[in-house]
Amino acid sequence: MEKRIHNFSAGPSTLPLEVLHQVQKDLVSYKGLGLSVMEMSHRSKEYGEIINAARENARKIYGLGDDWEVLFLQGGASTQFLMVAMNLCPDDKVANYINTGTWATNAYKEAIKIGKKTHLAATSEADGFAYIPREFTLSENPAYLHITHNNTIRGTEYHWTPEVPAGVPLIADMSSNFMSRPVDIEKYDMVYAGAQKNVGPAGCTVVLIKKEFAAKLPGGLPTMLDYKTHIAKESMFNTPPAFAIYVIGEVFKWILEQGGIDSIKESNLAKANLIYDVIDNSNGFYTGSVTDKESRSLMNITFLLPSDELSKKFIAEAAANDLNGLKGHRSVGGCRASVYNACPYESAHALAEFMKKFMAENK
Ligand code: PMP
Repeated sequence: MEKRIHNFSAGPSTLPLEVLHQVQKDLVSYKGLGLSVMEMSHRSKEYGEIINAARENARKIYGLGDDWEVLFLQGGASTQFLMVAMNLCPDDKVANYINTGTWATNAYKEAIKIGKKTHLAATSEADGFAYIPREFTLSENPAYLHITHNNTIRGTEYHWTPEVPAGVPLIADMSSNFMSRPVDIEKYDMVYAGAQKNVGPAGCTVVLIKKEFAAKLPGGLPTMLDYKTHIAKESMFNTPPAFAIYVIGEVFKWILEQGGIDSIKESNLAKANLIYDVIDNSNGFYTGSVTDKESRSLMNITFLLPSDELSKKFIAEAAANDLNGLKGHRSVGGCRASVYNACPYESAHALAEFMKKFMAENK
């Protein structure tokens, strides 16, 4: 058996071991065909089956019908910041954003950068983005409201859906909690996620977009930046990130084999609770960075120790025990444990036990 560390990296992050083994098995000769998926034409029958299955399974996981388009795009979630503003905000309307930290800020700034009229409907910046605002005020004539469903750096997550007036599209960046628990996707017109946290390797961004909504978009944009191009050609206008899509498809199958998104949620809750319980029962030795418990992320658990020195010691000793990737994002410091779908319960358990031991030795 190969060595596997406990991997708490924020992304790219741990993939299901079963998927890695399947990919390894398929690598040189996919299904005995004598070539790798990396070497296969994306126009071949075999590849068509791979991408179609991935598309179908994405819908199945969220219980969506084929009135939803599933796109596999390139350029990361960061390109979606641009595409959302370009495609969804006509010049006579206003792009609305809720700012909950770095990635939300970047999405908002991108709309400003390309000259769109913008409005901050809410922000938790004054409180260090330590919670998700519940109240928000839309501008006149809103093109959409954009939210960041899970804030990878701060460790906050929407556990509710913002109520928008009828006719105002709700758009979500779900990069770091995609397919981690049931969400009523029907309340959104579009969601997107860089694959490299919950559903695959880097290099592909999954976009779910309501067909009816997409059909009303004006289009006419630069080809690769126009959703209409990718919808019309089913993500095959040009060569798609073929190998990444194949791995994503294997992860989708794995999610379904686990019992689907309800089971995935149970497992994610159990893992997150193990770690939050240690934080909450530590008499302040560990402090959760998120002030509002209802905004706590199940995916990225952010916490501080009593001093920077102790944080450094914690991260170093954890790494020596094969507990890896616990350093907080460079912009905020502290510690962060990312416990995405594929992070095994045993890893979360090992971390919780290590945290208790470290506390006993250092308080
Ligand atoms: N949104 C969120 C919530 C993220 O966590 C990240 C990456 N960490 C991004 C967007 C940017 O994604 P990408 O690197 O795929 O452009």
